[in-house]
Amino acid sequence: MDPNKLNHANLPESGKLIRTRPRSADARPQTRPRAEGWTQLTGADGRPQLQFASPRVKQPPTHLADMTLAEREAKIVELGLPKFRAKQLSQHYFERYTSDPAHMTNLPKDRRDDLSEAFFPPLLSEVKRLVTDDGNTVKFLWRLFDGALVESVLMRYPGRITLCVSSQCGCGMNCPFCATGQAGLTRNMSPAEILDQIVQANRVIAEGGLGGVREIGNGTEAERVNNIVFMGMGEPLANYKRVMTAVRRMVAPAPEGLGMSARGITVSTVGLAPAIRKLTDEEIPVTFALSLHAPDDELRDELIPVNSRWKIDEVLDAARGYFERTGRRVSIEYALIKDMNDHAWRAELLAEKLNARGRGWVHVNPIPLNPTPGSVWTRSEPSVTREFVDRLNAAGIPTTLRDTRGKEIDGACGQLVATEQDRIDAARLAGSLTI
Ligand code: SAH
Repeated sequence: MDPNKLNHANLPESGKLIRTRPRSADARPQTRPRAEGWTQLTGADGRPQLQFASPRVKQPPTHLADMTLAEREAKIVELGLPKFRAKQLSQHYFERYTSDPAHMTNLPKDRRDDLSEAFFPPLLSEVKRLVTDDGNTVKFLWRLFDGALVESVLMRYPGRITLCVSSQCGCGMNCPFCATGQAGLTRNMSPAEILDQIVQANRVIAEGGLGGVREIGNGTEAERVNNIVFMGMGEPLANYKRVMTAVRRMVAPAPEGLGMSARGITVSTVGLAPAIRKLTDEEIPVTFALSLHAPDDELRDELIPVNSRWKIDEVLDAARGYFERTGRRVSIEYALIKDMNDHAWRAELLAEKLNARGRGWVHVNPIPLNPTPGSVWTRSEPSVTREFVDRLNAAGIPTTLRDTRGKEIDGACGQLVATEQDRIDAARLAGSLTI
């Protein structure tokens, strides 16, 4: 088979589409997804392997953030202290961003160390911090209790602060253009490991680590993370239960949780349709993002291996269902890859599929591909990008081009992966390497 040709035979034969579909020698070529510089793991069926279940490895010890306030109170009573101490401990962690017993001066001195041991096992140790954009973007590399490495990216925008969090160590979805997928899935992250990324980021902000301390609310309020995007390492819906526990804690009022608005939390998925339907039933109005990247199953089957399970129509129906139940407009993420998925006819096919499910329920966020090693993966030309955006807008689909932050520090979408140097730095930190 000609590697530059996909089977477009069963695309809808509607007017506009035919005019823009590639059919002559001067039509733009079709590059096919291909892993370069690494080998995509395949299963017995010869298709890219998908890992839904985390390998059976130890989870981290239970942390205060894994528990509801009532569970913390029960544990405090078990330890022979009155219930209200659970609230105090929670305030230290969720409002003052500390788990250091030395700072907990309102707790009985002789119990501080054992309380801290019982509620605050160390979860995330900072290995490295990379700063760019004049201090407005910070990438953290964290070492977890078992040596696993994950990253989060903190970004200041006018009027808001966003943290891109990881939900799994590695990722089992095996998308050939995403650096995280190349390493496979090591394990799921616990709710507290997900939340500790936010709490530690809030502490860094309070200490001036995001371009200095700024005053808000007439100096009465401390700045903190307002937006969470589950766009770091991992597929959040493949770690459904723990991610949802973390989300519940993010929105729970302080001191049970962080008291954040659900609208400020974006859950992004490659399209696990049953999990999208489950998320819909939760009725927590988080923002929902679908990483679509192709409107035709022919291409998406190769670009997003999970498409072999749940096809585009089923996933789009699930996304539409999310909108209907929550009233929250869905985002479609679309990394524009040169000659692969950026053809004008694909913009029109995408618009057609979205419009077929109603108006005003969705917007599209094309993102020029961020470089990962491999020559078939190049971002689209600016003129092609513009045309793609224009065609969607012309078809009535609100579309805004996103440029991702943090490319210089490999902190942008699809670039998060622990490197050999990261591993050396982490081992040095753990004291297991003598140099
Ligand atoms: N697994 C989830 C969340 C992590 S990725 C998901 O796929 O949605 C967050 C976003 O970055 C997704 O939209 C993903 O498709 C996109 N992405 C991955 N690799 C990229 C790359 N090289 N360039 C631009 N975006 C990329």
